[in-house]
Amino acid sequence: MMRQITDEVYLLESTKGAYSYLIKAEEWILIDTHFSFAKQALLKELRDNQIELKKIRHIILTHGDMDHMGNVGVLQQLTGATVWAGSKEIPYIMGQQKRPGFKKYIAAFMNPKKPMNIKPLQDGDKVCGVEAVETPGHTPGHICLIYKDVLFTGDLVEERDHLCVPFSVKWNWDTRILFQSIHKMSSYDFKWVCVAHGEPLLRDELFYAE
Ligand SMILES: [Zn+2]
Repeated sequence: MMRQITDEVYLLESTKGAYSYLIKAEEWILIDTHFSFAKQALLKELRDNQIELKKIRHIILTHGDMDHMGNVGVLQQLTGATVWAGSKEIPYIMGQQKRPGFKKYIAAFMNPKKPMNIKPLQDGDKVCGVEAVETPGHTPGHICLIYKDVLFTGDLVEERDHLCVPFSVKWNWDTRILFQSIHKMSSYDFKWVCVAHGEPLLRDELFYAE
């Protein structure tokens, strides 16, 4: 079952390991799309929760890794939604530029369906009240998203043993830049920290570990 986080924000349980979130804002918005192999489970969860696919008007990707963009092509087709991502991330998602490091091999190996088109987001751009914040480091064009009091971190940070920690070094394009992005993000207002990896946390309860 979908797990309700706030009045309008829901977590998709079928995407555990790399959570996707649904925002029932004025228009419905899906944040990230998990791995392509989980397509059936994801569609079943939406169906079981009476989420009409056509009501999802926007899909926003925090970045182009396989566990976040896996179903974006399929979901764009099924929903007719507009797909958005950080402007600097789009060439990687569309395959015009090879991902840095070993991720290029993973991407080639998994080869998920690409979206038909993606609209670019830059720092401060908003989609139905969801604000993009450029937070490079995990990938070159990574963005975080803020909707009201909820921060969607993508892979800027993750939750491990009730700790909010910077994303693991081995998966990052540039961890030094990731730390700068964490610093940038800390000046924003939010209450909920909705990570992809691990479980959502409240900012009040955050412990930060290096
Ligand atoms: Zn991830």
